[in-house]
Amino acid sequence: MRQAVSHTSIPTLPSTPSLVAGEHDRRALLAALTFIDKPPRSAPALAGWFEKHLVRPGWMRRPTHVTEAFSLPVSLGPSAPAGADEPELQEIVEAARYRVLASLRALMPPAADDRFLSAAIAGGRVRRAGNPALWEPCPREDEQLGDIVLSLFAADILSHREFYDAYLCVCKTCLRIDFDPSRSGRTGCPEHEPTATINVMRRSRPPA
Ligand SMILES: [Zn+2]
Repeated sequence: MRQAVSHTSIPTLPSTPSLVAGEHDRRALLAALTFIDKPPRSAPALAGWFEKHLVRPGWMRRPTHVTEAFSLPVSLGPSAPAGADEPELQEIVEAARYRVLASLRALMPPAADDRFLSAAIAGGRVRRAGNPALWEPCPREDEQLGDIVLSLFAADILSHREFYDAYLCVCKTCLRIDFDPSRSGRTGCPEHEPTATINVMRRSRPPA
């Protein structure tokens, strides 16, 4: 039997060995990074992203519509007239993408606000994945797009919290994410200077 192995190249993918180590299932992170780095800007592209990254792994049923915040649902189905809702769909994707990045930025010190993790657990968008230390996403198809993408990050963060505490970088200026603090610090990017005061590695939050 032939094994179809496709290596997707994602610019922000960490080169650290812990991401590609065989025993870790980082498909949820790969799905989330794909959405962030190459946002699907048409109904077929978004439907394809859902199919490949959420439906096929068995994490979610195939959605017929997407929505975000106060937007009206936009159809993803094959019956949707081609291109009709494109501007609305792009607004939904952009709004969802921004909300996800803002949540990741909030996760950084000094705020270390991880309420979106508890929200994902309470909302039933993540579940234990066999191994008690590992989580997987399980969003419902009628949930907001931002919450669906956040459930992908939440599953990976809950499974690998130390990795994020040590390596997650979110540019304070443009919200670009990366996992290599040696390049531009934890709050910068190739185009923007890091914030000096919190450009430090942290492993855990201060005691309450
Ligand atoms: Zn930047």
